[in-house]
Amino acid sequence: MPRIVRVAVPVPLPRLFDYSLDPGLSMPATGCRVRVPFAGRERVGVVLASDDHSEIAPDQLKPVSLILDRQPLLTEEVIATLEWASRYYQHAIGEVFEAALPALLRSSRQVPQAGVAGIALTVDGRTALADPALRRGTRICTLLELLGDGPLADVDLDQRLPGWRSSARTLRERGWSEECRLPGLNVRDEPVAAPALNAEQQAAVSSVAERAGEFAPFLLDGVTGSGKTEVYLAAIADVIRSGKQALVLVPEIALTPQTTRRFRQRLGFDIAILHSGLSERERATAWLAAARGEARVVLGTRSAIFVPLPNPGLIIVDEEHDASYKQQDGFRYHARDLAVLRARALKVPLMLGSATPSLESLANVEAGRYSLLRLSRRAGVARPPSLQIMDIRRKRLDQGLAISSLNAIAECIARGEQVLVFRNRRGYAPVLFCHACGWSAQCERCDRPLTLHLGAARLRCHHCAAEAAIPKACPECSSPALAPQGQGTERIEEVLRQRFPNVSIVRVDRDSTRSRAGRDAIFEDLEVEGPRILVGTQMLAKGHDLPNLTLVVVTGVDQGLYSVDFRAGERLGQLIVQVAGRAGRAERPGAVILQTHHPDHPLLLALIAGGYPALAGSLLAERRAAGLPPFAQFALLRAESRSPSDSSAFLQEALKCAQPLAPGVSIHGPLPAPMPRRAGFQRSQLLIESLTRAAVQAFLPGWIEQLRGLKSARRVRWSIDVDPVEMG
Ligand code: ADP
Ligand code: ZN
Ligand code: ZN
Repeated sequence: MPRIVRVAVPVPLPRLFDYSLDPGLSMPATGCRVRVPFAGRERVGVVLASDDHSEIAPDQLKPVSLILDRQPLLTEEVIATLEWASRYYQHAIGEVFEAALPALLRSSRQVPQAGVAGIALTVDGRTALADPALRRGTRICTLLELLGDGPLADVDLDQRLPGWRSSARTLRERGWSEECRLPGLNVRDEPVAAPALNAEQQAAVSSVAERAGEFAPFLLDGVTGSGKTEVYLAAIADVIRSGKQALVLVPEIALTPQTTRRFRQRLGFDIAILHSGLSERERATAWLAAARGEARVVLGTRSAIFVPLPNPGLIIVDEEHDASYKQQDGFRYHARDLAVLRARALKVPLMLGSATPSLESLANVEAGRYSLLRLSRRAGVARPPSLQIMDIRRKRLDQGLAISSLNAIAECIARGEQVLVFRNRRGYAPVLFCHACGWSAQCERCDRPLTLHLGAARLRCHHCAAEAAIPKACPECSSPALAPQGQGTERIEEVLRQRFPNVSIVRVDRDSTRSRAGRDAIFEDLEVEGPRILVGTQMLAKGHDLPNLTLVVVTGVDQGLYSVDFRAGERLGQLIVQVAGRAGRAERPGAVILQTHHPDHPLLLALIAGGYPALAGSLLAERRAAGLPPFAQFALLRAESRSPSDSSAFLQEALKCAQPLAPGVSIHGPLPAPMPRRAGFQRSQLLIESLTRAAVQAFLPGWIEQLRGLKSARRVRWSIDVDPVEMG
């Protein structure tokens, strides 16, 4: 009797594939990985079902090449979640399973050993340490001394000696150290006692504890600095005490060093960390520690939502409004929304936390689906920062900074405190412009200006990978009068260095934190509490707790005030409030200066008058009146092609296929995308709209099946985005 397994193979086809099992091989359980031949290549897939019969003719049926797991790698619940997500987001099942696994486990390489990676001294290393001729006080010596007390885990070293990796390389090259495996994840920083929770925090923790063991979604709406993280930590401590696991999602890698340390210090338990800044091996090790139940706390970015939790107790999504929870290409899932699904399936409480909750979550509170937990005051002695609009019309500016802003910065530094200058634009200048003829450097593939990066001495497109050398003269008129126009963080850093030559200035953006070493150095630097100016993009808007930061200057918000995206107002409000929230988080009061040419804009007025709640309330009312999400369901069909006619032909045909329209569903377009050309492709889209999720979900599968059959589909790249967060 043939034995058949149905496998999710990582290919863009919306189905499973049957494979036979050679005699002698035992049947792999659902959730085990197998290696199978597919289109002339070997692929790693996940077994989702078994059968004794296949539709495929026996001579066509290929055998499984190798069974990679003896025990299922994925739990039934994760499998069900992924199957649901594949249907809901209309994405090929094999690719959905691929996205859920760390890269190392998508290959047929060995699953990492139990335990964690670490380093130990060799005999030569011990000799070197004992040698009186060894130069003391160097980083290398510090690392030697640390290891002299015994081997240390990499994760432990991350905490104790930032930037240790380059010293470790030197040690290894000299034969003084070697890699090793250490048991468990039991690393712990010097423990730090928790502050006594205030009444609101205590109430929030109790509300969650009371619902242990059942699905109970909460929105933790707490102003910046109100102690949300303390609430998470206390709730997690409860979960650990009951022997269960907690999954904590954070938006971005920029958040993790400080958050990680705080979690380790406070919980002192096995914490698995998952983010894209780790090596493949580190990720796989952490993932497995969680999936095996060894790690009690899983702290990770978006894709950590797929980690199996054999012993679940709580799910937390910090900064739940953050757009980075939505995957923007390939399998376009929303990690926050999947967190709700998983919490329900696992029967655990869910805490969505933010100082600036998404309108989606606020609507869920209004509708009675989520319980609201509120932290209305800053924790400890910290007071809310004062927000001040600075009208910069007709004011003299030095590279975008008003003279009065510069004066405020000088005063703050003189008091020995720290300043954050926010500019959500990296690079030196957004445009390189010819003063003689008006030419400007453009990305030919995107029809957008190239950003000038002086540090890297390149022109770079922020929308595609295009790069160019900086021309010495104008390519149109040969004039040498080329001038950078506008300011990015690099240029603001430059002007601040000229103005404040003796002040330490740190720039935090995607360029300065690209390398692991650069990132380590910057975060190490941020720990120092002396006077300093930070210049940064939204990377600095989130999560960092800088107790000595008392002034925030926000520049460049004006573009955001007049965007076509219906979410722009919500985003800008969140960004301003989050950036502002970095100020005055400890004893000293904070001030926020918002530079604008539009001091009377309703969004800014609402923020000043009533803070984020007032703004969110009015935006939500607008959305309801206009029938926009969360009061409507959207999906986008995007198409791009080299020639404009191909994508519009495809979308026209797609529109025709949809007729007669399913009840409750309407389609708008084809419309050019907000960015009509990118990386040489013409882009347009159809917007599918409905009042109910059920109607869109009933409509999409049959329609997409038809689209796959269209001839015109072969000449375009197309994709479906369910619940799009970016409208372009
Ligand atoms: P949030 O996550 O809401 O921004 P945090 O949890 O980071 O806030 O807390 C902000 C600051 O207030 C931190 O330095 C934290 O240690 C401190 N803090 C939080 N709760 C308390 C409390 N109950 N008593 C004293 N300090 C607190
Ligand atoms: Zn010119
Ligand atoms: Zn480009």
